[in-house]
Amino acid sequence: MAFPETWLNELMNRNDIVSVVSEYTRLSPKGGRLWGLCPFHPERDASFTVSPDKQVFHCFSCKAGGSVIQFIMQAESLGYADAVRFLAQRAGMDMPNEINDAKLREEKALRDRLYAANREAAMFYHQVLLSDAGLPARQYLLNRGIDGSTAVRFGLGYSPNDWDALFKHMTSAGYTRDELISAGLCVKGRKDETKTFDFFHDRLMFPVISASGRVLAFGGRIIGKGEGAKYMNTGDTLIYNKRHNIYAINLMKGRKLDELIMVEGYMDVISLHQTGIDNAVASLGTALTSQQVRLMGRFAKRVCYAYDGDSAGQKAMLRGVDIIARGELEPRVIVIPGGLDPDEFVRA
Ligand SMILES: [Zn+2]
Repeated sequence: MAFPETWLNELMNRNDIVSVVSEYTRLSPKGGRLWGLCPFHPERDASFTVSPDKQVFHCFSCKAGGSVIQFIMQAESLGYADAVRFLAQRAGMDMPNEINDAKLREEKALRDRLYAANREAAMFYHQVLLSDAGLPARQYLLNRGIDGSTAVRFGLGYSPNDWDALFKHMTSAGYTRDELISAGLCVKGRKDETKTFDFFHDRLMFPVISASGRVLAFGGRIIGKGEGAKYMNTGDTLIYNKRHNIYAINLMKGRKLDELIMVEGYMDVISLHQTGIDNAVASLGTALTSQQVRLMGRFAKRVCYAYDGDSAGQKAMLRGVDIIARGELEPRVIVIPGGLDPDEFVRA
């Protein structure tokens, strides 16, 4: 049987290969990997390795190798589905409802459309930022000391002050109304449900990009006099859960960092990168979760909080420090003097 992709990802996250393999053989670190005696045959010298960042194992003598699922298949002599069940039990996860393959394929096809739609929308917003219509947003970035190359690195954009500019662009690019609503890019009219409006208007746009480089969602900061909250964010969709993602984690890919700097908002992250502090990330406005800590653990050993000194920031930070420590990363805290936020501090 096939399992839903998001459920399988969660299963892999909750069954770290090092902790699973350690129940079968003793591992010790050497040269960026962990080594141990192969559990699949007798040997005197360790030829079995685990690579924690790739979450795979490999034996140089018997050539066994693969993910944590392949490891359990071989170690417990189980088929694929039973190995998955074994790991679900180990992690205390319920098995997903059995879904037939046709439904799964349909869901995957829709997810792929939503990834593509978000990517297209990000390119649209970026083009608008560079056009005449984007001048107010470019002016805002200039005032905040953000230059063009930083704007490109973060894929920043501007959603025009228009009811349905994105909707028109996306439908002419072949996306359906349902897809755009599912992606959180457009919404139905409140009074007249047959009408369609863009979700973001007149906002500086921050694409939220996964570690693997996919555009998942957006945050938008109001630019003009405009109406509504200072920041708006895509809600949860089929491809996005803010509790599982970290802003700017895509820029950490392929790097081995001692430390990530955790700040509160999109602009804090971007300002720090602009000044050369290129290991800054943000938690997307939620209380930090264990999934987010695991995600950060793939790139760094420590997470250092640099939240501003107001009491809400301090409270969120204290909770976060606790969750980081429980996730076996090392938490740290930077105390910023004078009640400045980190962005003001680096520019002062
Ligand atoms: Zn072996």
